[in-house]
Amino acid sequence: MPRPIQALISPSAMSHNVEQVRARIQRTQQHLSKSNQAVQQTQQFICAVIKANAYGHGTLNAIKGFAQADALGMIDVEDLVRCREAGWRKSLLLLEGFFDASDIPVLQEHRVTTAIHSDEQIAMLAHAKAAMPIDVFLKINTGMNRLGFLPEQAAEKLAQLEDLQKAGKIARIGHMMHFANADLDAPYVQAAYQQILQARAHYPGPLSICNSAASLRYPQFAFDAQENWLRPGICLYGSTPFNTELADDLVVNLKPTMSLQAKVLAVQTLKAGDSVGYGSAYTAERETRIGVVACGYADGYPRSAKNGTPVSIDGQRSQLLGRVSMDMLTVDLTHLPQAGVGSTVVLWGEGGPSIDTVADCSGRIGYELMCGLTKRVPQVIVE
Ligand SMILES: *Cc1c(COP(=O)(O)O)cnc(C)c1O
Repeated sequence: MPRPIQALISPSAMSHNVEQVRARIQRTQQHLSKSNQAVQQTQQFICAVIKANAYGHGTLNAIKGFAQADALGMIDVEDLVRCREAGWRKSLLLLEGFFDASDIPVLQEHRVTTAIHSDEQIAMLAHAKAAMPIDVFLKINTGMNRLGFLPEQAAEKLAQLEDLQKAGKIARIGHMMHFANADLDAPYVQAAYQQILQARAHYPGPLSICNSAASLRYPQFAFDAQENWLRPGICLYGSTPFNTELADDLVVNLKPTMSLQAKVLAVQTLKAGDSVGYGSAYTAERETRIGVVACGYADGYPRSAKNGTPVSIDGQRSQLLGRVSMDMLTVDLTHLPQAGVGSTVVLWGEGGPSIDTVADCSGRIGYELMCGLTKRVPQVIVE
């Protein structure tokens, strides 16, 4: 028997979340069209981000779940090929662009759109064989200061790309940027946004601005170009990009796409004064029934989760007691006399606490917990 732990992955929840983002964009379009007719003529495309093994969900599962998206965005060149082999025919976007000249023929063969963020990449393209021209997004650094060209370099870099276009290396040119702070109501969200509009200077190509936070909080940023490519990631997995719970005024109803479940392996009864686990991090004040669950930090459950982190046991709310160890964690069964060996514990996801709640109780973020699910946890597709 395999160890009783699994991650349930729901492609239908992924699909639901894509539709929620699309609906939010459509409502914004209707709203903006009232004062600006031109907005009606613009198009919005959703590029579902599936980097990092689809935020821990499995690339192939995500290809299925995001079938309704217009594109898939990723970091690894290998994943591009995997997507094509799995039958994905729509657009693919390489978010950081290529890493080596040997990647370019792969992009040409698989019709991949690539970010261009450096002079090194431009030089590699200049030296590449003009087999098939590829679509590119010129990456503008609007304050994140990781990748991209400064706004004041934008015109010069665009001219270089246009030369490569004439040489048959590049097909279409767009512009992209990535927010450092779209999860906050910071003035620099607006400042960064203005920077890319100025850097672009009404160039007519596609524009890609919004991650999850911006797609949800600033959907109006997706209407400046004829063709706008949104790049949501985390929200499509039902987790929030914001520090706080998703605000009601964002009117999106996201569903969790990953549920981590494990079973109770053993039950212990502590007397008052007994403690449980490493470091005796929890000491019982009265007689306490403890369930020992087949999930630990080697599965990706955060070791930093505090006493009291919520769990659900056979559908009833309960909590973590004591320190999370490598292969096990311990939960309170005192108020659940029916629960015992074999009971199902939902650590996060459908039927349990949200992954964001568990992250909050651990000083982590939902992104980390998803990506941190380890290989030894079998993934099971649910419908
Ligand atoms: C990861 C990533 C995204 C998605 O970010 P979320 O916060 O998960 O929505 C979008 N664009 C780029 C360039 C990224 O690297």
